[in-house]
Amino acid sequence: SEAFLSVRDLRVQFSTEDGAVKAVDGLSFDLERGKTLGIVGESGSGKSVTNLTVLGLHNKKNTTIDGEIVLDGKELLTASESEMERLRGNKMAMIFQDSLTALSPYYTVGRQIAEPYSKHTGASKKEARDRAIEMLGKVGIPQPKQRVDDYPHQFSGGMRQRAMIAMSLACNPELLIADEPTTALDVTVQAQILDLLKDLQQEFGSAIIMITHDLGVVANMADDILVMYAGRAVERGSTREVLKSPQHPYTWGLLSSMPRLSSDVNEPLLPIPGSPPSLLNPPSGCPFHPRCTFTDKVSGERCSGERPVLPVGRGSACHLTADQKQQVFIDTIQPR
Ligand code: SF4
Ligand code: MG
Repeated sequence: SEAFLSVRDLRVQFSTEDGAVKAVDGLSFDLERGKTLGIVGESGSGKSVTNLTVLGLHNKKNTTIDGEIVLDGKELLTASESEMERLRGNKMAMIFQDSLTALSPYYTVGRQIAEPYSKHTGASKKEARDRAIEMLGKVGIPQPKQRVDDYPHQFSGGMRQRAMIAMSLACNPELLIADEPTTALDVTVQAQILDLLKDLQQEFGSAIIMITHDLGVVANMADDILVMYAGRAVERGSTREVLKSPQHPYTWGLLSSMPRLSSDVNEPLLPIPGSPPSLLNPPSGCPFHPRCTFTDKVSGERCSGERPVLPVGRGSACHLTADQKQQVFIDTIQPR
């Protein structure tokens, strides 16, 4: 079956004064209708750029894009600006990390939900206002009829995030891209918003791409996980596979820094030393090698000399053997 969204060998390069930055360097993934893909990585891993590119919202100046993005049979990289705008209204929508940048302080919350809705569906003013009230109710805003005429500053942070979700879902998008949608919120509200997204996904049948630096956010939400590092995918699999038997040293680091409610141990077992690499001069070979604590298990200079390939389907881009991957995980991470 054809994937609803298919990304093939995507490359996004920015030319800067200092040289070319390979923000996304050969990324491929598929997403089926109604499913959730978690894209996990540190800032600078290319996860946000990838998704802005899918939406056609990337900064076009000094940017070179190659590859293929096909949404429901339509090639997006060659689509016109006006086609993309139409698709962003009807077929895909985005939820940002910060509701304050997505919602204008000058207009009521209701108007900000109603206007794009009537623009994209041709609904009358009255219908659109009713839709805004309905959507505010669906995202759990109490007394939506009273709150529809409030301004964003009259909402709490959690309510604004809900309002933004209402705005994104009002037109029934088939693809929803959520970039760190809960990062700015406290843990309790975070959990509520994720639950809400899951419920709404059931109701609307949207496919979701959930972008996050926190594996915990996608653990209960995503069907599949793609781990990104330095503009490349380094591991992919079902959420169950990635959480139960992760294969890539970077994923081990992410996993071991996940806070566990059941544990008193707050120190990550396997911290990731150092910081993300420069994409101006990316490391040779495996981009993770300057931070990896397992290079001694791989023979010779392989880690710094040879770029590991991510296989199609379940797998990771790392030169360790399958046995080594399993053994290190069992010895190092699992005892916790
Ligand atoms: Fe570490 Fe080498 Fe695997 Fe890269 S290829 S993750 S450096 S062991
Ligand atoms: Mg980001």
